[in-house]
Amino acid sequence: MTVGGKETEAMGRGHGLAYYVAIYTAALALIAAFGIATFLLSDRIISEESRSATLVRIATRQTTLSQRISGLAFQYAMANPQQRRYLEPLILSSVGLMRSSHEALLMGDAQLGLPGGGFSAEIDELFFGELEQLDYRVRRFMTLAEDFLELPQNFLDEKNQGLIRLMAAAQDDLMESLTEVATIYEDASRARVDVLRERISWLFTSFLAIVALEGVLVFRPLFRTLVRHREELYNMARTDPLTGCFNRRALMETAANEFARSRRYRSPLTIAVYDIDHFKKVNDTFGHDAGDEVIKHIAAVTEQSIRSVDIFGRTGGEEFSIILPDTDIHGAGVVAEKLRSAVEASVTPYSGKEIAVTISVGIGTVLPDDEDAAQALSRADQALYRAKQTGRNKVNTFELEETGATD
Ligand code: GH3
Ligand code: MG
Ligand code: MG
Repeated sequence: MTVGGKETEAMGRGHGLAYYVAIYTAALALIAAFGIATFLLSDRIISEESRSATLVRIATRQTTLSQRISGLAFQYAMANPQQRRYLEPLILSSVGLMRSSHEALLMGDAQLGLPGGGFSAEIDELFFGELEQLDYRVRRFMTLAEDFLELPQNFLDEKNQGLIRLMAAAQDDLMESLTEVATIYEDASRARVDVLRERISWLFTSFLAIVALEGVLVFRPLFRTLVRHREELYNMARTDPLTGCFNRRALMETAANEFARSRRYRSPLTIAVYDIDHFKKVNDTFGHDAGDEVIKHIAAVTEQSIRSVDIFGRTGGEEFSIILPDTDIHGAGVVAEKLRSAVEASVTPYSGKEIAVTISVGIGTVLPDDEDAAQALSRADQALYRAKQTGRNKVNTFELEETGATD
């Protein structure tokens, strides 16, 4: 009969609120960290792809520009002075575009989202290496174009050496190398994106695993603990700590439920209230602790005497009540008398002594016009009062005044 006591212990053993908050926060933080990492990686994939697209676009534009410049130069050679005045700025602006694109490719360009430097060895070789020297070739091409415009105008024609060198440079050297640059950029970027994709799928798999693990290892135990504590609190709120049986609140709830049930099924419902006789004397003679033992003893005897459908609880200091569903006053009288005689026949062992007590029982039943169980309880109280008045150690029912089993 120490259910209440055990529960208090269990509650005491649990971790504090700070512990649960820390665990919960750590678990959420881990999930958030994975979310942030996934976001950052996706962001890198997107910027990597757009960077690669820009690089490829610039490399392709360089090819187009070189073709355009050599085409315009050819027209320039064949044109009359008036047409040349129109063509010259077109050629110069194309060269200007080519130069700025070349610098963007080599030095980076914040506006285009191109980071400066940091080329792969392959690109480095292509631009500056001994064999390819793309940097040199692009610069040479631009110089050829500018020099071409400086040539004496009178002798210009399609056989001009400057024009031929310019067209050859555009055709042979630049186009191939620039196409290669675009391909290398594309391949390198694809490889980087592949690595990022692999990382993100690894990250996402780990993320799912972490969530599942946290579910099993953190959240499930956490919620179980919460539910257990809630149940323990609920039970504590309904349990009498001394005897472990229902307290007054739990018994009143039960009475209300049983009242509703008896109304629904038109079944009888009776309540018995009992109180230890001359209990003050027990306390005075043997002490308060002995009194407590007697109260526990009465609870134990009750437990053994009543039927499994009956519900009892400690409703006051040394006062108990039994709710007897599907039972009329006669049936309740039988149960009560069994209890009364069991108490009378037993003793409470206490530090080598045996304490004998009796109880008086009052019985009240639910009547058709009752609105709640409290009325039956009040009848039982009145019957108990009468039992006390008329000699104690007896069962008295409200309706059948003074028909206690023992007089
Ligand atoms: P009666 O036969 O008329 O019931 O006489 P009584 O002496 O039992 O009188 P009453 O029921 O009025 O007094 C109950 C006493 O029980 C009063 C109080 O000191 C004592 N008591 C109440 N609760 C506890 C408890 O938890 N432990 C102990 N040891 N005594 C209690
Ligand atoms: Mg008493
Ligand atoms: Mg009392």
